[in-house]
Amino acid sequence: MAAYPLQKSNVYVTQPTLPPLEEFLPYLQQIWDSKMLTNGGPFHQQLEDALCQYLGVPYISLFSNGTLALMSALQTLRVTGEVITTPYSFVATAHSLVWNGIKPVFVDINPATMAMDPARIEAAITPHTTAIMPVHCYGYPCDVDAIQRIADLYGLKVIYDAAHAFAVRYRGASLLNHGDLSVLSFHATKVFNTFEGGAIISQDAKTKKRIDYLKNFGIADETTVVAPGINGKMSEINAAFGLLQLKGVAKAIDERRLRDARYREGLAHIPGVSVMTPVEGLEPNYSYFPIFIGPEYRHSRDDLFFALRARNIYARRYFYPLISDFPMYRGQASATTENLPIATRAANQVICLPMYPNLPLEQLDEIVELIANLART
Ligand SMILES: *Cc1c(COP(=O)(O)O)cnc(C)c1O
Repeated sequence: MAAYPLQKSNVYVTQPTLPPLEEFLPYLQQIWDSKMLTNGGPFHQQLEDALCQYLGVPYISLFSNGTLALMSALQTLRVTGEVITTPYSFVATAHSLVWNGIKPVFVDINPATMAMDPARIEAAITPHTTAIMPVHCYGYPCDVDAIQRIADLYGLKVIYDAAHAFAVRYRGASLLNHGDLSVLSFHATKVFNTFEGGAIISQDAKTKKRIDYLKNFGIADETTVVAPGINGKMSEINAAFGLLQLKGVAKAIDERRLRDARYREGLAHIPGVSVMTPVEGLEPNYSYFPIFIGPEYRHSRDDLFFALRARNIYARRYFYPLISDFPMYRGQASATTENLPIATRAANQVICLPMYPNLPLEQLDEIVELIANLART
């Protein structure tokens, strides 16, 4: 093991790409000059327009973060009772339900996409079920057709947690146009970031209007409040940064594509290491590079994880533990390992390798070499 060199500097699972600071200064100057700091100022409006165009979606509402956007999406559609969701996600998915007084009901995932298995949904529907909240995990599409069929049959709403799916296209159009609403996160660790931020994609003007009321205390005009809204507004600084960031995002995704291909090539044929296969018709964003360490590998997933860490490579076990294993969820009937065998196996096998546009290729190669060497020793 001592034969493998330490990385010269720490390598994290992700690292945001920052444009040169001097390119941001003119935006700040404009904010200082206009004294419009928030509440739907000019940069906010420009970013909404630019994102609709870039993503190919009809309506978008910006938020201060993805979690408030998820919570507001549920309020927008007046979702109550029980919602069917996935345990294989970031905790915010289920937390957004609990903050609305909704009970999350977990169903297992499909091992090909790591997303909710539609074949499990019907058995989880009760008289209290009002919606389905699936996650396009790692930007791989859920089975959107099957989910919509079930939703139509049972009269359920569909809200996609699309936090991983920025700019993902599927069958020639934005993946974000499926379901009633899709929710994005622009957190610093995501493919496109505004430091903190998020958004809801909607499909008609009336719904967009309701979302915009809800994110601004329900205020319709100076003397009218139409709903018990929250404060989810994105500030002008964040919106301005988003506009600047958006200019470089296509190139950033290209850089990711290159690294995705290099990992795939390097990791092919290592016994016990598997990677996900993009589905037909997908134009990915290469947001994450998960690998799964099976029993044929010489070491456990955690041995590999800590061997990487010992060399300053901070990979992450996304998603481990499962949401359903956290103390506030594990008492639920749907949270048992028996109900979630595939998600449980994935959580025990996954490591997300460092993946970001500036990840030096030599460092990527060293990560691959370490994984290959440990497979032999
Ligand atoms: C990042 C993320 C969120 C939360 O977004 P924030 O902007 O950090 O609040 C929700 N769901 C998933 C799947 C995420 O990855």
